[in-house]
Amino acid sequence: MIIVANWKMNKDLTETRLFWEDFENKITLDSDFLLQKENILIAPSFPFLHHFQTKCSEKISVVAQNCHHDNSGAYTGEVSVKMLNSIGVKYVIIGHSERRMHFNEKDDILKKKINLCLENNLCPIVCFGETHEDRALNNHLSVIEHQLNIIPVEGNKKIILAYEPIWAIGSGKTPSIKEIEEVHSYVKGLYNLPVLYGGSLNEKNANDILCLPEVDGGLIGGASLLSDTFFSILKVANNIMRSKI
Ligand code: PEP
Repeated sequence: MIIVANWKMNKDLTETRLFWEDFENKITLDSDFLLQKENILIAPSFPFLHHFQTKCSEKISVVAQNCHHDNSGAYTGEVSVKMLNSIGVKYVIIGHSERRMHFNEKDDILKKKINLCLENNLCPIVCFGETHEDRALNNHLSVIEHQLNIIPVEGNKKIILAYEPIWAIGSGKTPSIKEIEEVHSYVKGLYNLPVLYGGSLNEKNANDILCLPEVDGGLIGGASLLSDTFFSILKVANNIMRSKI
């Protein structure tokens, strides 16, 4: 089970510290807590990655929300995989729909980012998912298959996929359980990789979604910002993992 918190452009240093103090207490004091650092991934903003890596990486894995598609160069404001590597970060979110939408990231750029991550031993968490229109037209599976053409097929690569229907992100709406099952089974038929679900996942719907055999975990935005709600979702994941032992 892999649970990823994507904080996007939220939390300053004080808020980041306060979250961690509270969250660390919760996971340390809970004697029933099985999840390890490979199960709990948190993506704070770039300025706090190093702080997180230094203070928190014994208990969780630190994730970058993005990286540049070139190794280095005249790209003011950008962050390279070498920089991420040098502070010990091991995961990068690639192709989030907000990056595709607001920063015009296209498949050729995303492909370069994925390859650069893999060459540098960083695990890309690659997001994909249909628009509301695609689903209404029943085109969602072909759109998804096309989006996933950026995934290298040769070799045994460490890649995590995250199904995030665009219309479900931050909207409070989720696909039905059957619809989630359909997409996850389809993608798992194409790629032998873990597939997370993301899009309005919260403490109320977490059990129904995370207990599906085709769902390997969750990518969580809004509900990961408060340590209480994020911990509640982790407890759901924890109980599902415990029930499988
Ligand atoms: C996301 O942006 O990756 C996400 C899943 O957001 P939310 O949980 O807020 O829908």
